[in-house]
Amino acid sequence: MTGPGWPAWGAGARPWVLLDRDGTLNHECHYLNDPAALELLPGVLSALARLQARGVGLAVVTNQSGIARGLITSAQLDAIHERLTNWLRQAGVELAGIYVCPHGPADHCACRKPAPGLARQAARDWGIDLSRAWVVGDKRADLELATAVGARGVLVRTGYGRETEQTLGASRPVDWTVVEHLEGAADAILAALDIPGQATPGPAQPRST
Ligand SMILES: [Mg+2]
Ligand SMILES: [Zn+2]
Repeated sequence: MTGPGWPAWGAGARPWVLLDRDGTLNHECHYLNDPAALELLPGVLSALARLQARGVGLAVVTNQSGIARGLITSAQLDAIHERLTNWLRQAGVELAGIYVCPHGPADHCACRKPAPGLARQAARDWGIDLSRAWVVGDKRADLELATAVGARGVLVRTGYGRETEQTLGASRPVDWTVVEHLEGAADAILAALDIPGQATPGPAQPRST
């Protein structure tokens, strides 16, 4: 992933954002199985484009237990992801990959978030230093994934984000940031990249309630 005008991040130094899908990129839709019902949240394309323009690597990490539950087929999931990929591509945004856990909670797999399997797979595929990465999502599992792999967690208030925020309470780790939406996440991440000597994730933002 290189492009004109991108910062020349050294090998292994490129910052990465691992993005949740439902409620973060697209409108939360209970076990979405119809590609035609896929709808991006406002500001998502510009947020991703701004991150990519700074040389930030982007990958999606998503739990899709609808597969295990028989509510969606692999072919439907592929069609949804083709639509998503094409939309992003039209905006000049290239995802490194869409990493999917197809299992249900009872499967006790190593890849259903907050288990770190998918993030570790992405890290192997792309040489990602997870200690320099962010995980952005709308559920506690996204934040717990961040903690599990030593990344920073960003909770968006879209999707289930507001409900998740209410459950965090005072026990929220300091490296979990809460923002309004993906645009806010991009702002926080880009601001952290601008701190001299801290091209790694910066300090958590104050909670803006
Ligand atoms: Mg989600
Ligand atoms: Zn799994």
